[in-house]
Amino acid sequence: MKVPNLYPKLSFNGIAFVGEAPGKDEEAMGQPFIGASGKLFDQLLSRAGITRSACFIGNVSQVRPPNNVLALWDWTCDEIQGGLIALRADLEELKPTLIVCLGNTALHAIKHPDLLLKRRKEAEGFKFVYPNSIENWRGSRFLDPQGRKCMAAYHPAFCLRNFKDGVPFLQMDLNRAARESKTRELVLPQRVLDTNASPAEIIRRIHTIRRLRLPTSMDIEGNYQFLPCISICTDPAFSFIVPFCRKDGSHCWSEDDEVALTRELSRLLADPLVPKKWQNGLYDRWNLQYGHRMPCYGNQDDTMPKWWEKYCELPKSLATQVSVLTDEPYYKGDIKSQEDNVFFEYCCRDSAVTLEISNKLDALLPAHHPNALQHYRLNHDLLNVFLYIELRGMLYDREGAKRKRHTISNHIYGLQSQLDRLAGIPDLPPTPEARENLLRSICCYVRNPSLVKAEYKNSFQSLLARSNAPTLTEADRGFINSELGLSCNVKGSTYKELLYRQLALPVQRNKTTGAETTDYLALQRLAKRHPHPAVQLGIEIGLLRTRTQMLEIGADPDGRIRSSYNGVGTNTGRVTSSTSPTGSGYNLQTLPDDDHSKPTDHPLREGMRRLVMADSDHWMFQCDLRGSDGWTIGAHLAALGDSTMLDDLRFGIKPAQRIAYMLRHGNLALKKSTRPEILELLKEIKKTDWDYFACKVGIWGLCYLMGPDLLADEIFQESEGKLVKSRAEIDLFKKAVFDAYGIRRWHESMQRKLKEKPILTCGSGHTRRFYDRADDALGQALAHEPQSNTTYATNLAALRLWNDPENRTHRIVMGQGGKMVTVPFRVEPLHQVHDALIGQFRKEDAEWAIPKIREWFDNSFTVAGISITIPFEGAYGPSWGDLSVGKI
Ligand code: URA
Repeated sequence: MKVPNLYPKLSFNGIAFVGEAPGKDEEAMGQPFIGASGKLFDQLLSRAGITRSACFIGNVSQVRPPNNVLALWDWTCDEIQGGLIALRADLEELKPTLIVCLGNTALHAIKHPDLLLKRRKEAEGFKFVYPNSIENWRGSRFLDPQGRKCMAAYHPAFCLRNFKDGVPFLQMDLNRAARESKTRELVLPQRVLDTNASPAEIIRRIHTIRRLRLPTSMDIEGNYQFLPCISICTDPAFSFIVPFCRKDGSHCWSEDDEVALTRELSRLLADPLVPKKWQNGLYDRWNLQYGHRMPCYGNQDDTMPKWWEKYCELPKSLATQVSVLTDEPYYKGDIKSQEDNVFFEYCCRDSAVTLEISNKLDALLPAHHPNALQHYRLNHDLLNVFLYIELRGMLYDREGAKRKRHTISNHIYGLQSQLDRLAGIPDLPPTPEARENLLRSICCYVRNPSLVKAEYKNSFQSLLARSNAPTLTEADRGFINSELGLSCNVKGSTYKELLYRQLALPVQRNKTTGAETTDYLALQRLAKRHPHPAVQLGIEIGLLRTRTQMLEIGADPDGRIRSSYNGVGTNTGRVTSSTSPTGSGYNLQTLPDDDHSKPTDHPLREGMRRLVMADSDHWMFQCDLRGSDGWTIGAHLAALGDSTMLDDLRFGIKPAQRIAYMLRHGNLALKKSTRPEILELLKEIKKTDWDYFACKVGIWGLCYLMGPDLLADEIFQESEGKLVKSRAEIDLFKKAVFDAYGIRRWHESMQRKLKEKPILTCGSGHTRRFYDRADDALGQALAHEPQSNTTYATNLAALRLWNDPENRTHRIVMGQGGKMVTVPFRVEPLHQVHDALIGQFRKEDAEWAIPKIREWFDNSFTVAGISITIPFEGAYGPSWGDLSVGKI
């Protein structure tokens, strides 16, 4: 049955919305956008001030596709082509001022009406292959081939499924549609993007910028090895390129001109009196300084943390910012252009929009929250700390890592051999000769040596060497099996076959997809009930493999690892790190520490932090605010009338210890005791007790509304399968926490707050707006401030270290590539994770450094009207993993 496009019932407001095709509800009611997604659409329309019945609402096809999947039809079918004819006729008759394409299909149908869409067959069925994606184009305006003004927005059904990733954008785009529908003309930003200036003209412009100290945004293309161009912009309407290299690799200038331009550019970058504005400037500044010896000073703004300050829930890319804060249509695809001019213009546009966005945010932030600019400034200042630690890097024990990798790999091969035997993989022949013959007959190297890659030849040589050993060890056997592809791969189907078919163990399934799985949690669950050696071996091999992958971290030629940092990598402002552009470093947050729960000679016992070492004559330190969630929660509870948690913390009672005691002795056990008595009683809870471990893992999750199943899984996983908590046990745990500390009041108060306005301001001064459905936002809102404040406390300490004039010095040390570098600090920052700061000081400076570090960490801030100072634990030693020399 056809669902005809809907003409406006009221006087036409000029907006034509185009969707894809009707669904079940639409078919039943005979009207487009009447079902669940239509209801959401109605809400957003009315918030944007658009009257639905004054709009045209149509679809690409007016027929409901089978299973609601349009791609089950070919684009040429009557249902789609007939639909397009009807749509075209309707639009021609109505002559809208603005056509809004909702989703990929409508975008394609309107933007490229004559281009047939192709389909691709995928595991889940057919999909159309769209040449332009709605993700890129949403928010953009463009002209269709008939010259009509159009814009793209997410489809409401997508927003229903991906609420917080979709709804805010659809809302913003509908707001824009309301404005745009007033006129027929497409007015695009007018920018002069000058890609043809001569070297003399470029130098003249740079001189003017320096003389007038003009606020300037810049953007580089390329990286630390290759710098094809940099764009410079002092007005969003005018940006120019300083080109160095064309797409074909040729240089743009004579050597003299290139030297002159580089010199002037370096001076501009280094001029502290010229205020610079960047988007994710850490990337540009790091590459310029590390690779091209061009340090940048006068860095005044960065749109990434500035945008995050207001929109921390949304993606932070420049493309997203442009789509929300400017009228510039999508242009990011131009980066791939092989035409020099298009590529240079692309770079110019980046710096132009960066300046425009930075200026706009200056006006928007004070309205967001009175503290927003101040908190953004703090985050911006931190970029200097991150840049320093990115440039400096940390000394890495490459040889130690190599040895460790070798030991662990051998251990894995030994275990692999045992697993292979269980999987029934035939034993290798007993004599070296027979083994060699077998290898030669299996290896393609022997059959066609010219086709074989060098790395494979090496592995063939080592295969031969190991198979020639008079007696094969388990590790040799595992190695040979693995190299020949005969092994039972714990990540592959042969392992599933072994567990679930050969051994007929109960099949474990992924909770969301229902697919058979042998992931870590599934294996731990199996091991609990069916401790078959094949399961234990799979767990151990999986863990060790992850460890060997981490041990592949590369170091730079100077033996240091460098990571990239992002101070606004998460909604809460938790600092994230990742592999640096040189390929060294890692997500260092996940680098494991020593695990004391393992037997002493176990290869998993020793963590990897010992490989990260202090420079010679230095001690490395770490100061850690772990467990600090309680301080923020405690302050909120105290403000709501129950100060038990805050008083516990102030008295040195750990909330998880109190709960462990209550779970052992009953919820009333500590009711009548004084705090000194409680401290005495809690001595029975030992650091190594498993019930205490479970309380530590679960206590804050419970406070943040984590579901019982998820919490049980977390405890199970964190305890490596040692702790299985039933729902009843989790309920008791929850009751203990809620009884002891009156958590429910906090939840109720947060719920009330969110209902009033989905906005939360933290002790740090950062204000987050929640875009999720109210029910989903509650858990996130509860978890937000404790995490955000922890990061804030660490950031404050890092900034105090950075800004303390007494901490400045001028030591010359050997740096990258044998060059001498100046170390400007007595206590150097080297790494930061959200709740810990890692650094180093000279051994001879220890007496000065230790009280100084304590001082920097002594920061109070206000939470719910109560002043708190989150305490820290600090220690130092020869490496990040060995901080045993002393406490801070
Ligand atoms: N989705 C669409 O694309 N159109 C409708 O009419 C309803 C849902």
